[in-house]
Amino acid sequence: MFAEIHIERGRIRAVLPCTIGTIVRTETDSYEFPGCHVSPGFVDSHAHVVGLGERLSAVSLHDAVSLEDCLSRITSSITDGTSWVRAMGWNQERWSSNQWPSRDDLDRCSTVIPIVAMRVDGHAMWVNTAALRAAGIDPTGHTGLLIDDAMRPVWSALPAFSREEVREQILRATNEWVQHGVTEIHDMDVAPEWLEPFRELAESGHLPVRIQSFVRGQDREWIEAGLLPAGGELHRIAGVKLFADGALGSRGAYLRSPYSDDATIHGIELLSVDVLTSRMREIVDAGWPCIAVHAIGDAAVRNVLDAYDVVRGLPDGRDAILRIEHAQHIHPDDVERFARLGVIACVQSTHCCSDATMAEKRLGADRLPWSYRWKTLLDAGITMTGGSDAPIESSSVLDGLRAFVHRTPYGMQSSWMPSERITSQQAVDAYTSIAHHAAGMEYRRGALRVGFDADLVVTSHDVCEYSDRIGDDIRIQATFTAGRLRYSA
Ligand SMILES: [Zn+2]
Repeated sequence: MFAEIHIERGRIRAVLPCTIGTIVRTETDSYEFPGCHVSPGFVDSHAHVVGLGERLSAVSLHDAVSLEDCLSRITSSITDGTSWVRAMGWNQERWSSNQWPSRDDLDRCSTVIPIVAMRVDGHAMWVNTAALRAAGIDPTGHTGLLIDDAMRPVWSALPAFSREEVREQILRATNEWVQHGVTEIHDMDVAPEWLEPFRELAESGHLPVRIQSFVRGQDREWIEAGLLPAGGELHRIAGVKLFADGALGSRGAYLRSPYSDDATIHGIELLSVDVLTSRMREIVDAGWPCIAVHAIGDAAVRNVLDAYDVVRGLPDGRDAILRIEHAQHIHPDDVERFARLGVIACVQSTHCCSDATMAEKRLGADRLPWSYRWKTLLDAGITMTGGSDAPIESSSVLDGLRAFVHRTPYGMQSSWMPSERITSQQAVDAYTSIAHHAAGMEYRRGALRVGFDADLVVTSHDVCEYSDRIGDDIRIQATFTAGRLRYSA
């Protein structure tokens, strides 16, 4: 919509009609965006801020066209002070040779400095001899390629980032998000030691977006670290994050019936219903307002709903914000209960575009319709929010909106299971007004209303009419968080 917005002390003071586009007036400045539209700032309701920062700080191999191209990028990143090299994004299918790389290739960059290069999907790691040695792995006869669990020793050997490095990563990542019109991020699986850099950046005015931290709880890390919920304008410690299962691609998602492409496997039950329930009891007893549980397979979703059923019966659980992250594959019998328990589905629409072909193989035709079922969830009255899961997927909200509305898998031309598409308005709501419900901030954010926080995004076209008429032309022109201009094109 076109509007003239007046801001005072970070809040919306007036919303007036405007015929020429968008005008934003603060106490000291006035900004004019002729022909542009304004809407509440976007919320990325599931992402990994430090993870994206790490990705942006690593040597990027994403667009490398050959093995030689990768090697020269890595070599030129090495300076006198380099102790480890971290690279990301290689994909041998993009290379002219099409061949898997080897340890010997990487040894041409250095034989003394350990080098770790992640494949684009995050499931394969390419290392040199020095990295194998540092991880305590005998290099004799080793290819230098490590898949999934085999990567663990190298992860353990990698030095932890310093507080200064974490600070840099947070800034890099949040400055990328703000360019996508994001004013708030629900940051998942946050390590306790990252909270201090977030707090410092928030208090010094350097954080361009609001952060709701969901801290690690799988091994009760929040208890070990003595954490409790804490409020702040730009940084809030809002909830605890658990994992009920793994991911579909690596057959870690926990399914009620075996995988269609491997009848011996059901996936991984990371926490049983009993353990989930006892973890959740501790969380609500400590006064946390939100619980977020990663659940992808139908068995994992059912486990979490069983545990949430118990939580709803606890005195402090009745009003708790109970979320299921991803909620990718839901048995038809569980949809009604999902709604009745008031559980929020925090979905990442771009996963559907990346995973469609793989999901068909893993799940088979019969239960495929239970997957990525956004319209079904909305029709059942379930609160559904949008998120990116960056750095696993793109941090762009426009990509997320496009996926919700079109459901066109990458590399394909037509919509996949089109009956589960949702409208542009529903998609925008999932990233704005509805998303704030998932952190309990809907009472002061997510609408252009007097008294609400002045978190705004200015766009070249109306995002609510984004899909049908505007296509890919839409651009983010400006982002305001807490009444301050944080980005302009
Ligand atoms: Zn995630």
